[in-house]
Amino acid sequence: MLLAATLLSVALSGQAAGPRTAVQWTDAGWQALRAGHADEAARDFDEALRVDARSPMAMLGAGAAAQLRGKTDEARQDLAGALRLQPSLTAASLLLGEILYREADLQGAIAVYEQALISAPTDRQLTAKLEAWRREAAVHDSFSQRIASHFTIMFEGPPDQPVASRVAEILEAAYWRIGGAIGAYPRDVVPVILYSKEQFRDVTQSPGWAGGLFDGRIRVPVGGTIDDRELERVLSHELTHAIVYGLASRGVPQWLNEGLAVLFERGAVAIDRAPLADAPLIPLSRLERSFQSLSSTDARLAYVESALATQKVIDLGGPTTIYNLLTNIASGMTFETAFERAVLIPYAEFLKTWAE
Ligand SMILES: [Zn+2]
Repeated sequence: MLLAATLLSVALSGQAAGPRTAVQWTDAGWQALRAGHADEAARDFDEALRVDARSPMAMLGAGAAAQLRGKTDEARQDLAGALRLQPSLTAASLLLGEILYREADLQGAIAVYEQALISAPTDRQLTAKLEAWRREAAVHDSFSQRIASHFTIMFEGPPDQPVASRVAEILEAAYWRIGGAIGAYPRDVVPVILYSKEQFRDVTQSPGWAGGLFDGRIRVPVGGTIDDRELERVLSHELTHAIVYGLASRGVPQWLNEGLAVLFERGAVAIDRAPLADAPLIPLSRLERSFQSLSSTDARLAYVESALATQKVIDLGGPTTIYNLLTNIASGMTFETAFERAVLIPYAEFLKTWAE
């Protein structure tokens, strides 16, 4: 989302009433994007392109709007188009690179940023990201691959073959269990990368308490002795994120995303409420964003709260609530509207009463 903010600052200034020219429609589009109206913005950029099909700024805007609406293929095409018209359009490179990376095309993402550096050799965002991605690519160079039905598993060298097989087995079972419970499966084959603990911290820059990560790929540290139940727990957790992402690629509050992951990592085990005894609840509204910056104590509390709140959602709305809620979000509704339609109580009321 950092990137969206950067793009919005590209918006041009000055706006006469009733856009007519491509520049005016483009202006209107950026204003709509800034206000969070991605659908309206998409229409404005379409108008701009109707007037001038070769406007790089309109094409960049169309790409940004498509991305915000979860239309990744369209976004990729628009951004590539903008770059064909104006290779020095760094904002388009930044977003296109991010999208390719997110879609697990690491080499493609690196190529876009390398190309962009030719016009903007001092751009800090480009150089920092490129350095991190090259480091990741270097780690992956020594990796082997194993293909399971619904997963591609990357791991380091032949010694990890038994671990990779076990991971494939766990994931295939979890695929049917969790997918069946939510009523949806990941959209594509999910890339899975198994790291040593050191590689995992280095590549993901995750906080010490993180046991895995989903960012378009499932990344899991498996170094040292591996407890099979812990492996199953971590893989189920990250696979849940992959399924949620397949249904709604943006706009899902963190507490709901993590709550589902915790509920599905557990099988039939009850939620451990112990962290709740030590501290007052963190307001759920504060758990709508990433947990990355939380201390390990707060993180423990945040995960338990998220699981309990998510369980409450399911109790209130029934077994299909989660599917309905996520598809509502994906259709472009605000979270408040999506929530009220699926759960049948206002989100504001839920925030106040969920813990009672
Ligand atoms: Zn998680």
